[in-house]
Amino acid sequence: MLIRQSAAEERGKPDKYAITNTRSSMDPFLTYSDEREMREKVWRNYYSRGDNDDEFDNNKIIKKILKLRHERVNLLGYNNFAAWRLQNRMAKNPENAMELMKSVWPAALTRVEAEVTDMQAIADKENAHIIIKPWDYRYYAEKVRKEKYDLDSEEIKQYLVLDNLTDALFFTAEKLFNFRFTPVQDVPVFHEDVQVYEVSDKDTGEIIGLWHLDPYARQGKRSGAWANTYRSYSELEGAKPVLASNNSNFIKGAKGTPTLISWDDAETFFHEFGHALHFLAADVKYPTLNSGVRDYTEFQSQLLERWLATDEVINRFLRHHETGEVIPKKLVEKIRKSATFNQGFATTEFLASALMDMKYHTTNPDKIEPRKFEKETLKELGMPKEIVMRHRSPHFGHVFSGEGYATGYYGYLWADVLTADAAEAFAEAPDGFYDKNLAEKLVKYLFAPRNAIDPAEAYRKFRGRDAKIDALMRDRGFPVPEKE
Ligand SMILES: [Zn+2]
Repeated sequence: MLIRQSAAEERGKPDKYAITNTRSSMDPFLTYSDEREMREKVWRNYYSRGDNDDEFDNNKIIKKILKLRHERVNLLGYNNFAAWRLQNRMAKNPENAMELMKSVWPAALTRVEAEVTDMQAIADKENAHIIIKPWDYRYYAEKVRKEKYDLDSEEIKQYLVLDNLTDALFFTAEKLFNFRFTPVQDVPVFHEDVQVYEVSDKDTGEIIGLWHLDPYARQGKRSGAWANTYRSYSELEGAKPVLASNNSNFIKGAKGTPTLISWDDAETFFHEFGHALHFLAADVKYPTLNSGVRDYTEFQSQLLERWLATDEVINRFLRHHETGEVIPKKLVEKIRKSATFNQGFATTEFLASALMDMKYHTTNPDKIEPRKFEKETLKELGMPKEIVMRHRSPHFGHVFSGEGYATGYYGYLWADVLTADAAEAFAEAPDGFYDKNLAEKLVKYLFAPRNAIDPAEAYRKFRGRDAKIDALMRDRGFPVPEKE
């Protein structure tokens, strides 16, 4: 509430509260506010951004962008923008990307139906006399979550000590990559919080690089968590040690107390470390081969998240900050179970945007009037009336504010398929997530070559076959489609 009050103060209304028109303001409001009319208002404001027939309306600009993109790729001899854009992606062409999305879509819709039924039951029990609308989804989903999963994030936090988790990263890197991390003091840093480690091969002692960890939030620091390289590896440039970094915004524990973080943050910590390992493990000749492939580059880091919940990491590092007790199995089970919560909503709002992105770039722009096109396309797809696209067209920044993610929004799902499939390979290996043989393949084919091997071929070498969507469906709690 404090934040909203200060937002109102900034707007000259110190005695009121303001809900700003951003996701971080909208989302919690729609989740927790009991005032239905206000929820509707906030929802309408948020999802009509750029679509109000005023000077900020983006519909005409979208059409212009689509036309220019189309014109340009026509000159290059391509039928549409998507065909041109995807040629050097792992998906290779729009048809493959569409096929993946369409194979997940029906299951997501079925799940939405079940979620809405659960929510409607709660609303009826409360005598709310309503039919679930889009501005009710988050609100009643939260009630379902409490009833079904009952997770206390504060309780979990007591077992997630930052220093222990850092050791867990090193443990994982040693088991999979044979890397050893040793703290060094004599390296200049830009802030006293930054800790530097020398990374070397555990057997040969060969120096691989330096890893910089800048864990804490401070004023002026960019928000969120990310990984970076100050120097990447390439044979051509003399094979110098890699300089990699991980950066987070954890709130430092008070003096003499450990820094505790949430489960989500711990996952992100592993994720970003995955990017760093990808930099450190690089074994390429040319510097340009370090560049990422949009629908592939998140896969390695997403995969690394899976080691957080392995028994080896849990039993060694997830210990209560005061008693040293290992996190109770029951609590870990609850965390695992809650992973499939609300996946109907999450998958559907994401896929609706990803499908629209692809439809926009595979349709002749002369035939597109964005507002109408969006409405008709979603209708054709059978979009549930209780959910809206995660990013509606007039504010779909990924796709229209630049070209980086244009026809690339599906990439998150693509990487998720690989992640789930690769994680199952480990789960099924003789020594599970620490299987030496599979870890060797992981490094050799999926990390070290960066972009020097075609991702599809690299994956096949690792897995012995192409990735299948079955594991992803299981992860999200969706039924696995039967093969005809
Ligand atoms: Zn990432």
